[in-house]
Amino acid sequence: MFFAIRRFIPRMSRLAQCRFINKGHSLKNGGLEQVVSAFRSVCGEDGVSLSQAVREQHGRDESVHRCCPPDVVVWPRSVEEVSALAKICHHHCLPIIPFGTGTGLEGGVGALKGGVCFSLRNMDSVLDLHEEDFDVTVEPGVTRKALNSYLRDTGLWFPVDPGADASLCGMAATSASGTNAVRYGTMKENVLNLEVVLADGSILHTAGQRRRPRKTSAGYNLTNLFVGSEGTLGVITKATLRLYGVPEAVVSAVCSFPTVQAAVDSTVQVLQAGVPIARIEFLDDVMIAACNRFSSLSYPVCPTLFLEFHGTEKSLEEQRRSSRRTGGQISAGRGTQRHEGVCGRLGTTPGILHRCVCASVPPPSDHRGHQKGPNPEPPHRANCRSCGGWEFPLYHGAGPRGSG
Ligand SMILES: Cc1cc2nc3c(=O)[nH]c(=O)nc-3n(C[C@H](O)[C@H](O)[C@H](O)COP(=O)(O)OP(=O)(O)OC[C@H]3O[C@@H](n4cnc5c(N)ncnc54)[C@H](O)[C@@H]3O)c2cc1C
Repeated sequence: MFFAIRRFIPRMSRLAQCRFINKGHSLKNGGLEQVVSAFRSVCGEDGVSLSQAVREQHGRDESVHRCCPPDVVVWPRSVEEVSALAKICHHHCLPIIPFGTGTGLEGGVGALKGGVCFSLRNMDSVLDLHEEDFDVTVEPGVTRKALNSYLRDTGLWFPVDPGADASLCGMAATSASGTNAVRYGTMKENVLNLEVVLADGSILHTAGQRRRPRKTSAGYNLTNLFVGSEGTLGVITKATLRLYGVPEAVVSAVCSFPTVQAAVDSTVQVLQAGVPIARIEFLDDVMIAACNRFSSLSYPVCPTLFLEFHGTEKSLEEQRRSSRRTGGQISAGRGTQRHEGVCGRLGTTPGILHRCVCASVPPPSDHRGHQKGPNPEPPHRANCRSCGGWEFPLYHGAGPRGSG
């Protein structure tokens, strides 16, 4: 595929130099001082570090992969600086490793062959918000929580939520998804344009400069070539992203199942029934037990689905009813546990409703997920004051912004 692209777009031949191609780069051979002083002339004394602690901090992410520190870390402040730094690297045959917030789970920031880490956290402006067109352009240091807090008063939000407070350009680079993907899609569906600095320092706009097109059948889809490129094709210095209206109401629910298969079947049925569910998250009994311990909760220890519905109050009632009809018995309402509860996730947006759903509960199961007897009385049934179901806190005035 790469060969085919090269035939049509000569510029693409420069892409792959961002990583790993330089077998004998010159930093180790006495070129260090010269290169570092060139870097300092671009981004100042404070914008370059050779310290071991800093290099180690940038040599690993949240994954299990071992730390591979770069030789130098630089902090550019603008696309021009990124371009100038890339030109220096190109001249000295140095690998470039872009660094967002280091929350990746694939070890992508590891400098396997040394090189220069471009930490992009100083480029953290929200540049262009078009409320009426539902899009925004951000620099690479802007994280998804920072963007959603910036959007707080606009009635808009960016829903792709991989759990961590990652940088949006890092999310584009890894094609991040998350629990909201079931309704809002992944980064692939939500990036409209990217500004990218290629390995030789040239600047590319994947959909044209300042363009924010919805149309996707207009020649090569360069945007989606870079989405998911894991920092190997260029440094993303701007991303134009699709935004959505904050839903009027959000309802969360928890469904417990006797077996994993029952949870899976129910998920398929909910989707087949066309219920426009926003989030579905599955936790098996082991994870539920861990969450109970970590957050002092008392969920039944069995396969469990966490669901979230977005819409108007009326439509949410219908969605909840449809979900129950498909076999998943909604036992109670609360947020997805992976994000440490709905309160933390929804706590920053005024004017939106979040409340619990009290309904019937499924039969309890033992620690292996086996149902205990034909129709036993669930142990938590008596807890709820209004319906006898499992009772959860009632949250009002919160919305999906800053979800984490
Ligand atoms: C608790 C937890 C839960 C998660 N859950 C999910 C999940 O459900 N779904 C999911 O998809 N992901 C999930 N992730 C991983 C998530 O995809 C990453 O956290 C995020 O996308 C990476 O963003 P970052 O800014 O931290 O990038 P980094 O970790 O800094 O970098 C990741 C990769 O992108 C490259 N990169 C970073 N910035 C740029 C840039 N500006 N230009 C070019 N390349 C760049 C890096 O070189 C590296 O290869 C989870 C992570 C955590 C910690």
